[in-house]
Amino acid sequence: MDRLQEALEAWRRELGEEHVLADEVTLARARTATFATTQAVSAVLRPGNTEEVRACVRIAQQTHVPITPVSAGRNQGYGSRVPVRSGVLVDLGRMNRVLEFDEDLAYLTVEPGVSFAQAHAFLEERGSRLQLATIGGPPQASLIGNALERGDGIGPHGDVFQHVCGLEVVLPTGECLRTGPGRYPRAQAASVLRWGAGPGLDGLFSQSNLGIVTRMTFWLAPRAPCLRLISGVLEDPFQLGPVLERMRQLRLEGTLREAFSLWNDYKVLSVLGQYPWEATRGLTPLPEAQRRKLRAEHKVFPWHLNCVLEAPSEAQAQAAQERVEHVLKETLPTLICLREEEMGPGGLRQVPSARNLRMMYWRKRTPLPEVPEPERDGCGFIWLSCAVPMTASHLETALALAEPLPLRFGFEPNLCVLGVSARCAYLVVAIIYDREVEGEDARAMACHDALQQALGGAGYYPARLGIQAPVLPFAPEDDSPAVLRTLKAALDPHGILAPGRYLP
Ligand SMILES: Cc1cc2nc3c(=O)[nH]c(=O)nc-3n(C[C@H](O)[C@H](O)[C@H](O)COP(=O)(O)OP(=O)(O)OC[C@H]3O[C@@H](n4cnc5c(N)ncnc54)[C@H](O)[C@@H]3O)c2cc1C
Repeated sequence: MDRLQEALEAWRRELGEEHVLADEVTLARARTATFATTQAVSAVLRPGNTEEVRACVRIAQQTHVPITPVSAGRNQGYGSRVPVRSGVLVDLGRMNRVLEFDEDLAYLTVEPGVSFAQAHAFLEERGSRLQLATIGGPPQASLIGNALERGDGIGPHGDVFQHVCGLEVVLPTGECLRTGPGRYPRAQAASVLRWGAGPGLDGLFSQSNLGIVTRMTFWLAPRAPCLRLISGVLEDPFQLGPVLERMRQLRLEGTLREAFSLWNDYKVLSVLGQYPWEATRGLTPLPEAQRRKLRAEHKVFPWHLNCVLEAPSEAQAQAAQERVEHVLKETLPTLICLREEEMGPGGLRQVPSARNLRMMYWRKRTPLPEVPEPERDGCGFIWLSCAVPMTASHLETALALAEPLPLRFGFEPNLCVLGVSARCAYLVVAIIYDREVEGEDARAMACHDALQQALGGAGYYPARLGIQAPVLPFAPEDDSPAVLRTLKAALDPHGILAPGRYLP
């Protein structure tokens, strides 16, 4: 009997037949991303608890069959649920319990299958005064998968992995550990203190293949009673640098606690509608005349700034708004500050929404479906997110590299600058195309590689990697590759856990 058959039989005994899937529909879904992939998935395992995850790992160790975990598998633009190398997928979606919630201490402890939509509904049902960072991505994406990828969200805890603790991790050896004080009996501070005594291990398990996380605590932020939308349009791209500098100032001094975003016109247009195939008679990338027409039709400008100001009282909101106006108005004369009640339905409370998923259908010739399923629909979509110090000169340099490249490959430069922290912005490029057009898969990946090479060559490295580039094509100058190889060999001697994902 070959190793895979041996492993499948053992997994069936441990999980039950119904939780070891190998039907063609499941496998096709597991190996399809929003760009070309060649990896095969031989089975999908669906453990229901930590003990079953440990059993999955032990069997993989015994049989040397590689396994890769996903929490919700909605990593769209970075590879969806496709593993870096062929193997078996461990889908943690059945483990979807909220394990702990404390309104006073403001935290929520969850299993990997808990989604943003589920967590949001959980807090709503309890009339909670607390909020979780909301991503602009799929509402069905998982809190844990997003945090492990060091994702970014909207809300005071937008730099998600900075606000988590108490990880429970199953190692490739089958051992299980808890990070922070939670490793001790009756630890009272397990969910409120990140470090405890001794080395902090949390970071080892984010963007890595050293363990499967089966539990994590998320710190929540109070929902401020007073919100204002700070927004403005940049009629001239030269305003970008000065606006960024002033936003940094407002973030550093604490007037603005939330991430801000700057979207270019292509990004706004791709959320509002689809490519004007008829008007352009099939010509790509979008001709300048059409770009201007669409801008005028939809009141879209070269760049749009958005940020939410939060304050615990009306007086503080008013003072903060005045400060924002004082710092920004001269550079951004179009600045407007709207109170929540002026915003209309939905207001400013962030609710997980599928709205931005429309972007993925920008270049499709078929209309947007009611429920987006981009992998099924042949949407071509690749993200590249690079870290840029928050100064005008860095942003201008990075943009000068990133902006012209997509056009050379036949795509619109769909760009966003995210002020996730006070010192560092992410320049996020989306390459959007139609996988059903012959040659576009290859062209889009060549565009991604050229962008990564150009930005990385100037020192602007990705903040996060997709399976399209699971390790960076740049050699570190220090001894980290050897150290990481030693760690991996110690924790995963047969290299069975997510081989190739960030680490060998
Ligand atoms: C239009 C659009 C908008 C988006 N907006 C955002 C955004 O605003 N912010 C953002 O951060 N992302 C965004 N994304 C990207 C992505 O959808 C999210 O990051 C999403 O949270 C990732 O999917 P997931 O949570 O289901 O993670 P998964 O796909 O389950 O996991 C992601 C990766 O993490 C690892 N992993 C997952 N679970 C575990 C585990 N339990 N143990 C160990 N390793 C694990 C795996 O390597 C996996 O490949 C967007 C995507 C699209 C298409």
